Amino acid sequence: MVEAPVYEAMAQPVVGYLDPYFFEIAAKVRDGLRQAFGTANPLTIAISGTGSSGMETAVANFVEPDSRFAVFVAGYFGDRLCEMGRRQGAQIARCEKPWGETFSDEEAAEFIQRAKPHVVAFVHAETSTGALQDGKAIATAAHDAGALVIADCVTSLGGIPVNADSTGIDIAYSCTQKGLSCPSGLAPFTASPRAMEWLHGRKSPMREWYLDLRLIEEYYDAPHRYHHTASATLFYGLAEGLRVILDEGLEKRFARHCACHQRFVKGLDAMGVAMHVAAPHRIPHLNTPVVPAGVSDVAIRKYLLDKHAIEIAGGFGPLAGKILRIGLMGPLATPEHTDEFLGAFDGTLRHLRA
Ligand SMILES: *Cc1c(COP(=O)(O)O)cnc(C)c1O
Repeated sequence: MVEAPVYEAMAQPVVGYLDPYFFEIAAKVRDGLRQAFGTANPLTIAISGTGSSGMETAVANFVEPDSRFAVFVAGYFGDRLCEMGRRQGAQIARCEKPWGETFSDEEAAEFIQRAKPHVVAFVHAETSTGALQDGKAIATAAHDAGALVIADCVTSLGGIPVNADSTGIDIAYSCTQKGLSCPSGLAPFTASPRAMEWLHGRKSPMREWYLDLRLIEEYYDAPHRYHHTASATLFYGLAEGLRVILDEGLEKRFARHCACHQRFVKGLDAMGVAMHVAAPHRIPHLNTPVVPAGVSDVAIRKYLLDKHAIEIAGGFGPLAGKILRIGLMGPLATPEHTDEFLGAFDGTLRHLRA
């Protein structure tokens, strides 16, 4: 759900891609993103494109042909990271678990020691399953092996703490339409000085032109050389979305997400509906209950949309028909909205079982 001030900000007159006002807005975006990512990285920007363009920017710039790329896969987006690495010609080492599980510190360290990767990637919040992967042990083991660490923070940014610097994440990317409550179209991105130093010394040619960070850097920073025409409108929206978030305070927003999550799980528990992910590893703002026995996910989603105008998502891949995916984030994460959903969900189950 997009906040009203974000829509209003997007109605501002469009300025050109070299207008000082555009760079003023871009500076605000940079400052807000640094706070949300928990980083002091100079290179903190928004890539023109959706979350996937952030993923491709990370992989295309930092994963070289023939290099060893180790990826933690316990869901759809871990798999997509492997596919992007494969297309760059890297040797992929997958650490795999069933969808919805997470990797323990020991499993992470053991895998990285064995794979001896140049780059390691993990998905912080795996949207296809609802599982949250802590990055600390992964980053520590990766740095011990001399590898760079990529974190997919597409669903986590703005919803929960990312703490990129204290976790040891070198490269992180996100999107605007999930935890940041803005329309889609930009991919927040940050890279550590260590990562940028590596990139500036990269030997093999970079295949992508549009996502080449060294060119993008020269556009957002001096000499402000034209690279592509960034959308002023999307930057207005993101700057305002970040302002709304920082006005409330990141900690308050995160606490609000956690409180609604607990209320949600308690409500489902009372209906006898279980959660797919084990309690300590759940994404608070992306809830994934198991589809209750005797009803189909398609019927639940159709009835909720038709009768209550509430849209939720289903599972896919190995979790097709098995889980529901319910976002409770941003302006939707209030006790009132949570209760409204629980009431509608209860009514839906009663109707379908009658
Ligand atoms: C949504 C998502 C993506 C892709 O983002 P798009 O904006 O759809 O391109 C990547 N990773 C994760 C974890 C996601 O949830």
